[in-house]
Amino acid sequence: MSRCVEFSLQPVAVTWEVHHGRHACRAPLWRHRTGPEHQFLGRPLAPGAAREVPPQAIRKGHLATLRQEHGTCIHRVGGTSEWSGPAGDGLSTSDPGWTLGVQTADCLPILLADPGRGVAAVLHAGWRGSAQGIVLKGIEHLRSEYGCRPTDLEAVLGPGVGGCCYEVGDEVLEAFRNGPLADVSHFRPHGAAHWIIDLAQTNARALIRAGVSPHKLQALDACTCCTNDRLHSYRAEGTSAGRNWSLLSPGHPVV
Ligand SMILES: [Zn+2]
Repeated sequence: MSRCVEFSLQPVAVTWEVHHGRHACRAPLWRHRTGPEHQFLGRPLAPGAAREVPPQAIRKGHLATLRQEHGTCIHRVGGTSEWSGPAGDGLSTSDPGWTLGVQTADCLPILLADPGRGVAAVLHAGWRGSAQGIVLKGIEHLRSEYGCRPTDLEAVLGPGVGGCCYEVGDEVLEAFRNGPLADVSHFRPHGAAHWIIDLAQTNARALIRAGVSPHKLQALDACTCCTNDRLHSYRAEGTSAGRNWSLLSPGHPVV
C-alpha cells in the first residue's frame, strides 16, 4: 500500500427524489443501466416514521441486513431464504433474489458491484471500519468468493458525514496512521488535538490504490449533517437520530 496515488475525489451533485415516503437519491453511475439496482433512502417525509426499511422498497426477493458493529466482518448471502442478520459490517451476494441493506446516520455506506458477474456488496464504513480497511477486506472478499477483479468493480459512496463537518480527535488520526490504509492525507488540523476527516476521500483513495478504476467510482455530494432536513445524522440529532438505508441488489449479469 505504499504506492502514491494522485487522486482527488470529486463528489457528484445529488438530485433528490421521494420514494416510499422518504427523501431518496441515486447515483448517476447506475441510474440508466441494467444490472445493479440501488436506492439511498433518507428521512421520512412524515415525522416519527419507523427506522426499518419500507417493505415496498424491496421490489423482489429477500432483504439481508446486519447487526452492525463498526468492524470489518463481511457475510456472503444467497441460496436459502433464511437470514439470521448476524453481526458484521458487510454483505455480498450473486443472487438477484436478494437485496442487501446497511443503515447509517453519519457513517459512509459503500456499494460495490461487478455487473459482468452479477455480484454486489454493501459496506458500512464509519471511522473505525474505514481505519481497519473495510474497503480492502471487501475487495479481497469479492475476489476470493466470486473471482472479481478490482478493475471490474464499480463503486458508489453514498450519503455520509462530509469533510465539511466531521471533527474527530487524535485517536482517530492514530487509528488511520497505524491501520492497513496507513493514510492520513485526508486529515485537516482543526484546533488543538482535533481534526477534520473526509471519510469518502480516504475510502475512495483506498479503492483506487487497490485497483478500482477512477471512472468507475462515484461519491454523492450529500453530507448527512449539512443535509439534515433530508438525511438522518447522529452528529446533528444525537441518539434520537433515525437511520438512512442504502440498498443494493446485483441484478442479472450484464454481458
Ligand atoms: Zn457537512
